Amino acid sequence: MTQIAFIGLGNMGGGMCRNLVEAGHDVRAFDLNAEAVAKAVTHGASAAESLAEAVKDAEAVVTMLPAGKHVKSVYLDQDGILSAAKPGAVLLDCSTIAVEDARDTAQAAIEAGFLMVDAPVSGGTAAADAGTLTFMVGGSEEAFNAAKPVLEVMGQKIVHAGASGNGQVAKIANNMLLGISMIGTAEAFNLAESLGLDAQTFFDISSTASGQCWSMTSYCPAPGPVEAAPSNRDYQPGFAVDMMLKDLRLAADAANGADVASPLGGMAEQIYAAMSEAGQGGLDFSGVILSLKQEQ
Ligand code: NAD
Repeated sequence: MTQIAFIGLGNMGGGMCRNLVEAGHDVRAFDLNAEAVAKAVTHGASAAESLAEAVKDAEAVVTMLPAGKHVKSVYLDQDGILSAAKPGAVLLDCSTIAVEDARDTAQAAIEAGFLMVDAPVSGGTAAADAGTLTFMVGGSEEAFNAAKPVLEVMGQKIVHAGASGNGQVAKIANNMLLGISMIGTAEAFNLAESLGLDAQTFFDISSTASGQCWSMTSYCPAPGPVEAAPSNRDYQPGFAVDMMLKDLRLAADAANGADVASPLGGMAEQIYAAMSEAGQGGLDFSGVILSLKQEQ
């Protein structure tokens, strides 16, 4: 049994925390939202009154927070994790944040005597609840080995991507490709259907031809061919447009900062931003096919 502090018990963190409790760990839970803490307590975690109290005796600290500014504040503020936790503890930030923020936070943690990994996830709330997330991990070999037993409780696939920040690099590069490929898939289905070829026939041909991709075969944006896809449930997420937009903005910022060309990533960001501004930010991102139809 390991003593673990869990900070950020939202849509993702709630299920991840429960899986750690169910695996027999002693989990101290903290969130600014008292309801989220109360829910974790019903799953067997103990409530901490403050961030400092949650982390003070922890051997491992897991954070699952909305964005970089929350992560920096929780780790670096005066009474944050780096001043309140025991040096030697392993710190695991599972939030999706900017590569630079992850690297700065890890550097400060290492200087304060901690092991730290960035370990963003692939998989949504269902995978968080089921303990089947994929973790893309950045950090030293020693930090990765210390974090791995904790990650294995919450996930199915744990990949060491290299030094600090590389977990975030893997996450944003993958999601940029996903955002682009979904738009391409939606355009292809829309074109085929508009010219008289039904979605199922086009799927049968293209899914075994050179157009094949995950956006088509696992998450088809046209209703019909893939039963489990959000397109068959009025585009309820799944993975919402606003979450894809967050990741594309992180990718665009990283590309600009490194002077790397990413024209399609930039266009994808604009397309999802337009959906969000039109009030469709809560739709599944495969609903981009609806905005193409509206443009016709
Ligand atoms: P969420 O908003 O549901 O949960 C975040 C929690 O953090 C909230 O309960 C909030 O009260 C808490 N919080 C914020 N600031 C805090 C602070 N200073 N101290 C303590 N608690 C604080 O978000 P989520 O959907 O669980 O996502 C968490 C992270 O996971 C994000 O970075 C997101 O991009 C990433 N992610 C989410 C999904 C998904 O499907 N939801 C999938 C992959 C990755």
